[in-house]
Amino acid sequence: MVEAYRLGLTGWPLKHSLSPALHQAALASLGLEGDYRCFPIEPLPEGVEPMRDLLGRMRTGELKGLNVTVPHKESVINYLDRLTAAAERIGAVNTIFMDGHNLVGDNTDRDGFLADLDFTRAPAIGHALVLGAGGAARAVVDGLCGRGWKVWVAARRFRQAQEVAESLNRPRKPAIIPLKLEPRTLTEVIEKVKLIVNATPLGMKPHSDTTPWPEGVGFPEQALVYDLVYMPQETRLTREARVAGLPAVTGMGMLVEQAALAFERWTGYPAPRHAMRLAAERWGGIETCH
Ligand code: NAP
Repeated sequence: MVEAYRLGLTGWPLKHSLSPALHQAALASLGLEGDYRCFPIEPLPEGVEPMRDLLGRMRTGELKGLNVTVPHKESVINYLDRLTAAAERIGAVNTIFMDGHNLVGDNTDRDGFLADLDFTRAPAIGHALVLGAGGAARAVVDGLCGRGWKVWVAARRFRQAQEVAESLNRPRKPAIIPLKLEPRTLTEVIEKVKLIVNATPLGMKPHSDTTPWPEGVGFPEQALVYDLVYMPQETRLTREARVAGLPAVTGMGMLVEQAALAFERWTGYPAPRHAMRLAAERWGGIETCH
């Protein structure tokens, strides 16, 4: 029997995280003792010693689970004993748990995205366009390819999109095509696209007036627009997509799902998703990491 679930999040600078609200709500809803704290750690190499200390607290059992966010999702890998298959392929970790004596890195963004996609009106398979080629994009692309989607990955730095394709394409079934994120290339593919995913931070508060969608490019006639940005809960991209007659959702559902999957890893209990969702919706953008 675990005495208390001491959980936490590390990243930098960690000012606007919703994770504490989600996990505190989950613990409270199940009547479990514990807490979820923020551990801001500077980018490595400055943060190496604090990172070692924090991971040491997991090894001793003082901490039962850790979430990881930017800028440590990739650099933390060097300090872990092993990765799950998803984290290995994606090359990024957002959840750490202990398995016996091993510190294991997992990536719940991938399955969190897929779980939330299942609540939408997206078709089961087709051509997808993913905007951005960072850690979240890699999780989304890996998840979609695993389900048989063909994916165009569009990035402002073409090389970054190429790297996603090179590392995630399955040799016998290549399904990822890199693109430069610019009007001409998007216009060439757009009519085939049934799912558009924004995996850039464009549109995120306080820059809510920005959008990753290039000016002058029309939306396809039928597609779901999925914006990973979750704050604000309606982004410029989803608003403009709806005006064009398309269904559109933001990333709050994914945020809850990836947190729920992490919570289940740490506690072994089915996550109380409803309570977590309510906590997310109640959250007004107040700073929750101190
Ligand atoms: P990341 O690793 O920093 O990647 C961001 C990507 O967006 C990179 O390809 C970056 O290109 C591109 N980008 C940034 N600014 C751009 C601009 N002005 N124009 C065009 N492209 C731009 O970040 P991430 O971890 O993948 O996160 C991306 C977004 O997803 C964030 O808003 C994050 O909050 C959100 N997210 C949501 C969830 C959820 O649960 N809903 C989970 C994970 C992430 P450069 O490298 O050239 O800058």
